[in-house]
Amino acid sequence: MIPFLDLQAQYQSIREEIAEAIAAVLDSSQYVLGDQVKAFEHGFAGYCGTAHAVGVNSGTSALHAALLAAGVRPGDEVITVSHTFVATVEAICYAAAVPVFVDVEPGTCNLDPAQLEAAITSRTRAIIPVHLYGQCADMDPIMEIARSRQLVVIEDAAQAHGALYKGRRAGSIGNLGCFSFYPGKNLGAYGEAGAVVTNSEDFASALRILRDHGQSRRYCHDVVGYNYRMEGIQGAVLRVKLKYLDEWNAARRERASEYRRLLQGLLLGTLREMPYGTPVYHIFPIFTPRRDALQAHLSANGIATGIHYPVPVHLQEGYRHLGYQAGQFPEAERAARETLSFPMYAELPLASVAQVVDSVRQFLETTDSDQVAGPRPS
Ligand SMILES: *Cc1c(COP(=O)(O)O)cnc(C)c1O
Repeated sequence: MIPFLDLQAQYQSIREEIAEAIAAVLDSSQYVLGDQVKAFEHGFAGYCGTAHAVGVNSGTSALHAALLAAGVRPGDEVITVSHTFVATVEAICYAAAVPVFVDVEPGTCNLDPAQLEAAITSRTRAIIPVHLYGQCADMDPIMEIARSRQLVVIEDAAQAHGALYKGRRAGSIGNLGCFSFYPGKNLGAYGEAGAVVTNSEDFASALRILRDHGQSRRYCHDVVGYNYRMEGIQGAVLRVKLKYLDEWNAARRERASEYRRLLQGLLLGTLREMPYGTPVYHIFPIFTPRRDALQAHLSANGIATGIHYPVPVHLQEGYRHLGYQAGQFPEAERAARETLSFPMYAELPLASVAQVVDSVRQFLETTDSDQVAGPRPS
């Protein structure tokens, strides 16, 4: 049995340190925000290369608070992609803004900068590129368009902790960068948590007020805020884990290149690694028109896989009111139909990678294979 993800393996490697860190929080009684959260914020801002990090209680809250801090108002339009985890779009709806989708690039499944201009209207206020699967969207053209149109760029870096774009960390390139520390992410808490990073003092102080009931000082509620505070225990856990993030990301990259090496010559599409950066493989996706059959074959052979994501947001029931139709975003729709995520985590044995690929080869040899998948092998 090869699991899709094994959180136990990582926990066992840092068990003692985690126990000490959690005990220290309990001893201090700083259960919500407090010194550990502050120290993590400092460490994470330093890691990302930004002036500030503001800890919150989830990645979804991070996106919502970032939109509000950036001045997105009801009725404003926010451009993003439909091929993402639903939270990107949820957050836009929380702000009573209107999500406007553009299609993704076929090779990377990230926002296609070439389609941005045509989606901008007089009501457009912000752009949310998503660094899907741990690879950065092509930020230079996105930032250039945003600057010329005076739009705010909020990076959804929930899958890209530590990923690089031209030497800069994911999250540090736009005006604001949003992270999730959901347990399964590259940097995961032991519960829910998130953060927003920014170089803007104004955005950072707006975020600190928004996450804590709109308070600037105790019982001074300047705006209608939220309870989006990070818990002390999560701050302490994340401080421990941040030290290992680069090592774990390197292990993910090693597993990804082993997959690529072994998959060479097989009729499967893999993610196109862009020369502009260093992806951190939150997910190792492949693409094939026979996705469902391959998934069933792997499952029958004891190999767990995932699908990220099976239905693009513009075709979800809850987002029907946005008025999109099937066929409007062909690359997003194709990715949803063809993508399959192989097991990927830092501790995944390399022998398991080989076993997965053996099983894939067996599937391809015993079935017709006249259709090549979407994203080009690279
Ligand atoms: C996980 C994720 C989120 C949401 O984060 P939560 O902490 O689960 O709220 C947002 N966007 C993307 C792309 C994600 O993968």
